[in-house]
Amino acid sequence: MARPRIHDTLIVGAGFSGLGAAVKLRQAGVDDVVIVERSDRVGGTWRDNTYPGVACDIPTMLYSFSFADNPTWSRMYPSGGEIYAHIEELTDRHGLRPLIRFDTEITGLSFDERAGVWTATTKGRKRFAARTVVLAAGPLADHKLPDIRGIDTYRGRTIHSAAWDHDFDVTGKRVAVIGTGASAVQIVPELVKTAAFVKVFQRTPGWVLPRPDVEMPASVQALFAKVPAAQELARQALFWGHEACAAALVWNTPLSGLVAALGKAHLRATVKDAWLRRQLTPGFTPGCKRMLISNDYYPALQRDNCKLIDWPIATISPAGIRTSDGVEHHLDAIVFATGYDVHLSGPPFPVTGLGGRSLQQEWADHAEAFKSASAHGFPNLFFMTGPNSGPGHNSLLVYIEGQIDYAVSAVTTILGQNLRYLDVRADTQRRYNAAIQQRLTRTTWMSGCRSWYLTADGFNASMYPGLATQYLRQMRQFRLDDYHAVAHEVRARAVTSTA
Ligand code: NAP
Repeated sequence: MARPRIHDTLIVGAGFSGLGAAVKLRQAGVDDVVIVERSDRVGGTWRDNTYPGVACDIPTMLYSFSFADNPTWSRMYPSGGEIYAHIEELTDRHGLRPLIRFDTEITGLSFDERAGVWTATTKGRKRFAARTVVLAAGPLADHKLPDIRGIDTYRGRTIHSAAWDHDFDVTGKRVAVIGTGASAVQIVPELVKTAAFVKVFQRTPGWVLPRPDVEMPASVQALFAKVPAAQELARQALFWGHEACAAALVWNTPLSGLVAALGKAHLRATVKDAWLRRQLTPGFTPGCKRMLISNDYYPALQRDNCKLIDWPIATISPAGIRTSDGVEHHLDAIVFATGYDVHLSGPPFPVTGLGGRSLQQEWADHAEAFKSASAHGFPNLFFMTGPNSGPGHNSLLVYIEGQIDYAVSAVTTILGQNLRYLDVRADTQRRYNAAIQQRLTRTTWMSGCRSWYLTADGFNASMYPGLATQYLRQMRQFRLDDYHAVAHEVRARAVTSTA
């Protein structure tokens, strides 16, 4: 097989983070970039999630890149479709489409230590080679149906929230929604509008706060278009407003109790029935699981054609769902809003680093990286949304922007100094993670609930225990001393001979 051309950077994934990395790399003078995308379109999670009601629960002025402002957001919390259109527009505005190889799924990545080159194999025969790699595949890129007894026997329609079946018309149908997380609270209010009835199967009630959504007046859109600084000011206000929430949502403090009081007040104000209120009252510290932001979830649950079921599911039967109280719920369709096959142990393909090390093996129990971006033994490889990079109180896009800046500094250092590779030092990574895990002990995520942030044994390799400001500060500081830098042999000889 012919040796593939060696690019400067290979980006895996054309979602927000992969595209953002491409923009910033090119702005930094790295032009030879190739983006490999398994789907036929850009957009990542915003391409895949098209369920009814899909929207962002963070204001989009903050859930967007500061270097790709959009003055025409229609509202504070626009629909998923509008966010997807923004990603398409960003792709075209920055001329990224020619860089993308669509319908190309990576099956493995391995590093050639002597050449300082990563090679990616794909499902087709095509291979890609690059001196540096940005892994932007996303931790929530894959979904699967949960392991519920009898699921294979069900004769009706099964739909996962992340792969909505638009051929299925819910009008007049009997529909179940399993799960009451961030996706479900957006889906249920839409389904109740047309379905004959909707039964919502709840395992754990979450904290729901109102969504301060407003339409963006034309005058404001015009102002943002004319004076970008005005939009930046609004973005900063939103950023600091969210930053302040860390005191209640990241750390388990008396302010967490204030959020609980707000959640209970919202519940009292919107749910009339005392028993339903009791069923919906969470039993964990706010922030431990993702906060739910919705104005229409509680009203939807109180419609005549909707019912909350909090009996555990005993089995899925051919006709529907049987709960442990012995009731058989007959259903035309079951919507699984049950979350993702979260990639806490690396991307869903083997990554082989120095000396044949396997990232999947090393991360099998507990993933760890330095500043969420580099893993020892896997040089010239930079993660987007890597270990311990998740926010609980602020916009993921803000964090991704920090990761992009870090990767750009590293990549330009490797290319600019013509290094064979940069490998983060093992002791540096160890010290960093010891501090992260120590700081995590005081956070709400570790306060005793079950969430996708934690592995089965309760290890947190997902969230960053601090302010976005702290995270961004560390990501702005790329220090060569944190890495073992290895020069190309030719260059090394040249350096020696001149010395
Ligand atoms: P999720 O937060 O993991 O929620 C899954 C829900 O399904 C939970 O209520 C869970 O109950 C329930 N569940 C899972 N397995 C079950 C089973 N076997 N039987 C019964 N119930 C089961 O998933 P998600 O709502 O799809 O959200 C995942 C993530 O996507 C979010 O945390 C967020 O990061 C992202 N998201 C973001 C937005 C946004 O607006 N930005 C919107 C949607 C999703 P338990 O709580 O008891 O586990």
